[in-house]
Amino acid sequence: MEDISDGKLYTAEDMVRAGCGDCAGCSACCRGMGDSLVLDPLDVYRLNIEGKVGLNELFSRYLDFHVEDGLILPHMKMTEACGFLDENGRCQVHPFRPGICRLFPLGRFYENGGFRYFLQVNECKKKNRSKGKVKHFLDTPDLPRYEKYVADWHYFLLDAQKGIRAMGDQGRAKAANLYLLNRFFLTPYDGNREFYGQFYERLEEARARWEEL
Ligand code: SF4
Ligand code: SF4
Repeated sequence: MEDISDGKLYTAEDMVRAGCGDCAGCSACCRGMGDSLVLDPLDVYRLNIEGKVGLNELFSRYLDFHVEDGLILPHMKMTEACGFLDENGRCQVHPFRPGICRLFPLGRFYENGGFRYFLQVNECKKKNRSKGKVKHFLDTPDLPRYEKYVADWHYFLLDAQKGIRAMGDQGRAKAANLYLLNRFFLTPYDGNREFYGQFYERLEEARARWEEL
């Protein structure tokens, strides 16, 4: 943490020097990021329901999968650059962009069932960044609810990774991964209902099903 941050942890109400002037003239963190831009279920909901990118197109053209501690997760596909980056270096899905894109150059430090933010000092190419409240940079409605969701998803994934490691059996681990992918990412969300209610229904079901997998 000392090498990559300014040594401070921030809440949404704190001031931080993370403003990059709307990234004008720069798209460095939309290029060459490997599998590091990991998506969560809300990101897929936003792009599919709000951004109207079909699920088939989303998963075949813009996203890819990787394995993290035994768990298969989707990330933005970066052949060279993210597929949503236009020829002028601007994000074509800016209002619907994933949470990790909203977060950059901040990161999350998880502890005690929640998390705080930290500033990645070596990542953003922009010099002379402006100061503002963390919540302003996150550009996310109903932030307390979003933060609770982010923490719940994170700690659920940790439990799932632990469960998959404990399975030992490749067949069971594969079945568990396919179930989670289908349940949280590939089964369409209902655009007539808000996201969080649907997510928590799926989370409850996944926790109940976990023992059977
Ligand atoms: S979704 Fe938009 S902001 Fe995020 S990596 Fe792609 S182009 Fe960049
Ligand atoms: S490196 Fe900084 S300025 Fe450049 S696109 Fe990313 S956040 Fe914006």
